[in-house]
Amino acid sequence: MPRVEKANFDNIYWIAYDDKRQLATKNLAPGVSVYGEKLVKEEGIEYRIWDPFRSKLAAAIIKGLKNMPIKPASTVLYLGASTGTTISHVSDIIDVNGIVFGVEVSARVARELMDRVVRFRKNVIPIVEDARYPQRYAQIIFKKVDVVYSDIAQPDATEITLENAKMFLQKGGSMILIVKARSIDPVLPTNQIVEREAKKVENSGFKIQEILYLSPYDKEHGFILASL
Ligand code: SAM
Repeated sequence: MPRVEKANFDNIYWIAYDDKRQLATKNLAPGVSVYGEKLVKEEGIEYRIWDPFRSKLAAAIIKGLKNMPIKPASTVLYLGASTGTTISHVSDIIDVNGIVFGVEVSARVARELMDRVVRFRKNVIPIVEDARYPQRYAQIIFKKVDVVYSDIAQPDATEITLENAKMFLQKGGSMILIVKARSIDPVLPTNQIVEREAKKVENSGFKIQEILYLSPYDKEHGFILASL
């Protein structure tokens, strides 16, 4: 029988499953698996195993994230929603009183997001747009957000994320920026790239709270958590 234990953060759990201790969230859409993740029932509650090899947020938690700005009832702007792997766990964490706006530039990818995630979850609002032009979706984001989460793997991802934060993040809010080193520079060591991007974030008025490296789950990726 699987055993469930609360993690350090609200609505995030450890489950002893398959002889391993695995991260999980409570499934807001019972019976629906988004990316082939295992669904585990314990005392009438269904949990979704959260794979750190598929989700950088899960990898960051396992690598020792100390502060988790995404909480029950949070409002989140998520750039690079893709087919919904991580945003679906964000949807579980924020629960019915939270909202996550998911921006995805590729219409083809966004269709999968709709099929796998949006149609089962009322707290996910899809926005098929380019995050480079936040003014195009300014009317959809009807209130300032608590967190901007960005995973867009672009050379100018930091600038794009900062521009979105300037428009939509409330004072006291947090930004999570995933830095894919090889999208920015083909040769520089990952830590130099990540530190350089963190400096840009700091110079834009943010306080850097944590910097994590996601290896072995995602090689050459940095995770920057900053607050405004
Ligand atoms: N965050 C996702 C997850 O963990 O489930 C994975 C994101 S994937 C690394 C990057 C995504 O960002 C792709 O789906 C890509 O189409 C999208 N993307 C890239 N540039 C973008 C832009 N300018 N605006 C919005 N989305 C963008």
